[in-house]
Amino acid sequence: MARVFNFSAGPAMMPLPVLEEIAKEVVDYRGCGMSVMEMSHRSKVYQQIIDEAEADLRDLMGIPDNYKVLFVQGGATLEFAMIPMNLMKNGVADYIVTGAWSKKAASEAKKYGKVNVIASSEDKNYSYIPDCSDLPIDDDADYVYICENETIHGTTYAELPNTKGKILVADQSSMFLSKPVDVTKYGLIYGGVQKNVGPAGLAIVIIREDLIREDLPDFVPTYCRFDTHAKNGSMYNTPNCWAIYVCGKVFKYLKSLGGLSAMDEINKKKAAILYDFLDSSKLFKGTVEKKYRSLMNVPFVTGDADKDAAVVAATKAAGFDNLKGHRSVGGLRASIYNAMPIEGVQALVDFLKDYEAKNA
Ligand SMILES: *Cc1c(COP(=O)(O)O)cnc(C)c1O
Repeated sequence: MARVFNFSAGPAMMPLPVLEEIAKEVVDYRGCGMSVMEMSHRSKVYQQIIDEAEADLRDLMGIPDNYKVLFVQGGATLEFAMIPMNLMKNGVADYIVTGAWSKKAASEAKKYGKVNVIASSEDKNYSYIPDCSDLPIDDDADYVYICENETIHGTTYAELPNTKGKILVADQSSMFLSKPVDVTKYGLIYGGVQKNVGPAGLAIVIIREDLIREDLPDFVPTYCRFDTHAKNGSMYNTPNCWAIYVCGKVFKYLKSLGGLSAMDEINKKKAAILYDFLDSSKLFKGTVEKKYRSLMNVPFVTGDADKDAAVVAATKAAGFDNLKGHRSVGGLRASIYNAMPIEGVQALVDFLKDYEAKNA
């Protein structure tokens, strides 16, 4: 078995102990004589799997009782549509556009109502987070929307926007469970799980109960109604049983490591190793304003596309995979989610230092 250090932005690296545990259970789940992927979602055994997953997630994140946890298919992208379909009561929402994902979310929301882009960092290729302390929030806005960690551009909020009393909705896909968050500051938090938690195709939605409406327009598909999922324990139809099971394993694993404060400590240390190197390097430089640097996605460039490509090829040959940057930023991007060990980041930095010395 040869595993590489996988710096993919997503689907991304999983913790090895979780993969090994799943491997042991894959043919015969705990004496059931069948795999989790073969069992009825209506079985007692599966009900216990989903119940424990939810309980462990609530415990990890400190989710208050007046919030529902929903396991929804369609990834984060379906939420771009479900959120406006369900939350636009006045038909207006304010979006802060800080990168590709919030831009996509805003353009999808336009299909369902009026979207105000109240702040944007597009002028500098989304390399910073705009000042969100005094934004022109629409009196009629049903919510204020952010992507709290922009996976492609590598930015994150230093502080949450002042929504002037409006509900805050956050896409946390690429920072989900990377650090403690105060759930009560949000009306809705969601994330596709394939960045920092589990297999693709599943989104986890954490929504304050009073925001789950029943008086929705007829056009909203049954599946796309939050009340459908809330009333049916995320099992209106066959859920993504396998992904929920794997996420449940990751939740238990994170708890065993000391929970989200412990993850935050490790993630800060990991990111510092890489950013300290970038700040001292003559060959490479980070692309994001320091204050807004993501702890999860670290884009960096040499400033020359051919040099960038040569570095990417050299890293790949040395056993570091998926470091090619997104085309909209160029260069390289190291995604260093929870499952990336500190040794992986240290080994990458050692390699880049050596590369720089040899190619000066
Ligand atoms: C990856 C990603 C998405 C899209 O996720 P899908 O599950 O592919 O729909 C949305 N938002 C953010 C921040 C992401 O990183």
